[in-house]
Amino acid sequence: MIKCVVWDIDNTVLSGVYLESPDRLPDADPVIASVLRELASRGVLHALASRNPPEAADYVRQVTGTSFAAARCGWGSKADAVAAITAELDLTLDAVAFVDDDMIERAEVAAALPRVLVLSPEDAADAASWPQFGPAVVTDEARRRAEMYEQRRRRQAASSKFAGTREEFLRQVGTRVTIAPAVAGDAARLHELSVRTHQLNSSGVPLGAAEFGVLIRAPGRLVVAVRLADDFGDDGLVGAAVTELDDAGTWSVPLVMMSCRALGRGVLDSLLGWLCRSAARAGARELQVPCLVTERNVPMRLALAAAGMRAAAGAAGADGRAIFARSLSGELPPVPDWVTVETVP
Ligand SMILES: [Mg+2]
Repeated sequence: MIKCVVWDIDNTVLSGVYLESPDRLPDADPVIASVLRELASRGVLHALASRNPPEAADYVRQVTGTSFAAARCGWGSKADAVAAITAELDLTLDAVAFVDDDMIERAEVAAALPRVLVLSPEDAADAASWPQFGPAVVTDEARRRAEMYEQRRRRQAASSKFAGTREEFLRQVGTRVTIAPAVAGDAARLHELSVRTHQLNSSGVPLGAAEFGVLIRAPGRLVVAVRLADDFGDDGLVGAAVTELDDAGTWSVPLVMMSCRALGRGVLDSLLGWLCRSAARAGARELQVPCLVTERNVPMRLALAAAGMRAAAGAAGADGRAIFARSLSGELPPVPDWVTVETVP
């Protein structure tokens, strides 16, 4: 699934060259402008990579009426710009497409970053009909994605000026994490998270909205939805966990997943702390999270370890999963006091 399209400016988003016509700046290409709007409405992010001064990005924002989550205007290589944008937005290269009218630029990016989908503007005009650009159900979170990245930029700027600890910053900006039982109306967003999350996903198995609907209603299981907001804005539903309690006194968590937007904001640690404490309160002696061991979900496994969970030596079984487990006696990982927990039946 493509989460972000990085666009060239000259003769791609603009029907002309920005620096060649200072008296009459070129208009937006009407076909590309409508692709920008269509993809944005589905939650695909846009970014700019251009050999131009930074003012060109402001001009493109204005003339297309589109939000760009990141822009790299300068004289370096396009491949470096695409890699920097991917890192800035916490994406992986296979979630990124790059569009440029210049065949040489496309070849350079394709060679340096083979996981990036490289397209000409003509291809991009068709892209809206390709499945990797179009989720079947557009969630509220998807529609507001570009806005949330804008909030994120302001949050990061404030954070880099803040002198205290990360925890003090999260408190200062009014971070609010809400953990509550999922309801039927959350199923589409849970499905979207299960498809889109990789760095913070324990199972690596995408589930359909209907499957989440079944899990939400199933007795003996609890699906919790995690929401995140702060003074910069509301990120909506950013994560979830599915739990099962077995007769032997073990709480098993077959799925923990979290949007990468929540990285560094105390949300996953809060959820894991809450899971430990809830399991202990329910009388469980052990909490287990079977976790697929992949290169991509290292951040998930680090968070499990930070919550005191350890995988048995020899790690992954035949299915590629390692069981991360911890005893629920003794001191449990904390849940920060900014976490609101709605009543769990
Ligand atoms: Mg160009």
